Amino acid sequence: MCTSWCLEKDGLKVLVDTGYAEDWPHFTQKAEAAGIDWRALDFLFLTHAHDDHAGFLNALLEQAQNLRVIASHKALGGLRRGQNGPGGGVPDADAAAVCRQMVKAGRGRHLFPKLDENFLPRFLWLEDIDLDAFLPGAQGLFLPGHTDDSVGLLWEGLLFCGDAAQNRPDYPLKTTIWIQDMAIYTKSWQTMIGAKPARIYPGHGDPFGPEALEAGLGALSQIRLNPSIKA
Ligand SMILES: [Zn+2]
Repeated sequence: MCTSWCLEKDGLKVLVDTGYAEDWPHFTQKAEAAGIDWRALDFLFLTHAHDDHAGFLNALLEQAQNLRVIASHKALGGLRRGQNGPGGGVPDADAAAVCRQMVKAGRGRHLFPKLDENFLPRFLWLEDIDLDAFLPGAQGLFLPGHTDDSVGLLWEGLLFCGDAAQNRPDYPLKTTIWIQDMAIYTKSWQTMIGAKPARIYPGHGDPFGPEALEAGLGALSQIRLNPSIKA
């Protein structure tokens, strides 16, 4: 599953991403143990429409009744399809091994519940809104490359980047294990570096400093994606 980050500022409760559909009970238990009133969430910032980030979206919208979702308009196709989009590949052998594990675990098709269309009026598309009007001081970053709908939330110096970067255990380069387009992905790293975050909170792994992106940027041009392993 991905890491859901929960933030609260000026009385606004924001969740970044959900998880796999079956993670829903685990999410509610964990949130309650941490004293988070998830039913009172104001916003879900959805970084992209992948099975491990949007899996329990319907359940959350059903039960957190004031929740609105902020996402890229480009996420809508994937949310309606209930499946990760096609294209891309793994950037290295470590990523290939993780993807093979996913296939073994029965997650190879990357299916998730299709968005219940009744919830559509509760969506705010990042392309159409002034994010600052909803989350004062926040900035939305378009970070395509992992997927074309990938977006990040920069708030109080913290950048929640979804899968635009990943912090894998014992793997110094902060590349995601699946990348749709390497050139576009590289530009999004430049966008993240240019935004000068104090700290980056990825969708997978522990937070890290932006200097890790700067250090790894040059290595991205050497990467050739291998599309033959199904993520
Ligand atoms: Zn993803």
